[in-house]
Amino acid sequence: MHEYQLYIDGTFCDAADGRTLDSIDPATEAPWARVARAGRADTERAILAARRAFDEGPWPRMTPADRKRILHQIADGLEARSQEIALVETRDSGGTIRKTSGDMMMAVAQLRYFGDMAERLPLEQELEVPQFPAQSKNWLLREPVGVCGQIIPWNFPLLMAVWKLGPALATGNTLVLKPATDTPCSALELARIIDQSDLPKGVVNVIHGSGAECGELLCTSPLVDKIALTGSTEVGRRVQQLAASTIKRVTLELGGKSANIILDDADLEMAVDGSLFGCFFHQGQACESGTRLLVPERLHDDIVARLVDRTRALTIGDPLDFATAQGPLVSARQQQTVLGYIQSGLEEGAKIAIGGGRPAHLPKGAFVEPTIFTEVKNSMKIAQEEIFGPVLSVIRYRSIDEAIRIANDSIYGLGGAVWSSDKDKAFAVAKQIRTGTVWINDYHLLSPAAPFGGYKQSGIGREFGLEGILAYTEIKHVHVDMVDNRPAKFWYGALFGA
Ligand code: NAP
Ligand code: MG
Repeated sequence: MHEYQLYIDGTFCDAADGRTLDSIDPATEAPWARVARAGRADTERAILAARRAFDEGPWPRMTPADRKRILHQIADGLEARSQEIALVETRDSGGTIRKTSGDMMMAVAQLRYFGDMAERLPLEQELEVPQFPAQSKNWLLREPVGVCGQIIPWNFPLLMAVWKLGPALATGNTLVLKPATDTPCSALELARIIDQSDLPKGVVNVIHGSGAECGELLCTSPLVDKIALTGSTEVGRRVQQLAASTIKRVTLELGGKSANIILDDADLEMAVDGSLFGCFFHQGQACESGTRLLVPERLHDDIVARLVDRTRALTIGDPLDFATAQGPLVSARQQQTVLGYIQSGLEEGAKIAIGGGRPAHLPKGAFVEPTIFTEVKNSMKIAQEEIFGPVLSVIRYRSIDEAIRIANDSIYGLGGAVWSSDKDKAFAVAKQIRTGTVWINDYHLLSPAAPFGGYKQSGIGREFGLEGILAYTEIKHVHVDMVDNRPAKFWYGALFGA
């Protein structure tokens, strides 16, 4: 059994009340790690440590070059242990070793990117301000927001931690990171790496505890300046309400129900594999997954036959085996949620083309077969709600306008794709979809240089890109008077008279 403690103020420690929680390996259903479980007292201590590190510590005042050096140091540490932590991630989350190994490589590259960005950010710019009555110089400063509460989900635990921590550190903030209850271990491994780096004590604190207890305290504490959440739309709504009491800065990366549109001139071999990658990658547990596949009426049967054929070739089983394409879902609870959605699809009249249950050869573990529904209407629950499992809904369309209408008929707007051999045509469709990312002839490719986030109820703000990093800064305007003499300041007449 692996053991993990909380990381508060540069020290690994047990929870104040001694509580622990066993982390379950969803492939075997067996506990594999024992993790300290934070309560209110631990959360308060972590917030205070981050507050002190911000108000009194050296970190916010260090140079961008120092911040860059330390982020690269953390990246080096992660790189050195990446295979080991990929194993931890697979056991904790059920993600296949193929996927978690890729996550580690991306996490290292992203940390380096954020480190490099620390030196490239426009933190001090002179402004042209023609409206002022007399000569002045004006500066736009970008300063760290302060203490950030960062709440992340279970689907890409380490990557989500890096996406939160990277930009916050690059800009000089301090933080309390709360991983999802189901998947705390890789974030605590990252804490071990951070502990070995030159990052000052208290800048990063990692607490494993429930959303209801620790998460809500982060959202309401007057000592926290910003909340960044990646999670469901339901929790996003709650977080926004709680954070309103102290007018915290809030960025939200929430759910999706993204439309993936195959146009009638698409290369079907590529589009079919890309659509399956778009939906079934990581068992469908990606927020930007292309879960609604819109296909032209004329090609419907051909596309469905190809989808079924290619899905049949996907191996499902032990996530620690490099040959496995599909592992279990994150938990037995998530498995039940997904099976419930499959049942609702059947009840509303959709037809199963392949899959539809737990695999017969895997009686143990949170497995669900990759499942394809046809005869789906966009009004059905399986087409409107985020399932977060390997369930693809195929929807027919008769014209491009109808496809765009269906794509936009959603409370969400996170991802999506268009497949066509005519890139200009695909681009024109992409422009009409109200969503934060559109891939043309691809899916799931994300870069820290490209903003990622949602329209509509998929979120507020962006992660990545300059926008995402600057979301961890406050803007300060400094006005410097260049007149330097009282009689010339005629505008004081507004108070003293002419
Ligand atoms: P979730 O239930 O919303 O949980 C996300 C995080 O919020 C967890 O750490 C959770 O803690 C915490 N939380 C729960 N209730 C809270 C509360 N009342 N106050 C503060 N924090 C609270 O989501 P999930 O089931 O873990 O993850 C799946 C969701 O994340 C999906 O909807 C998916 O679309 C979304 N997601 C979005 C993105 C994106 O970038 N847009 C990326 C990945 C995932 P506990 O786990 O301890 O309850
Ligand atoms: Mg687990």
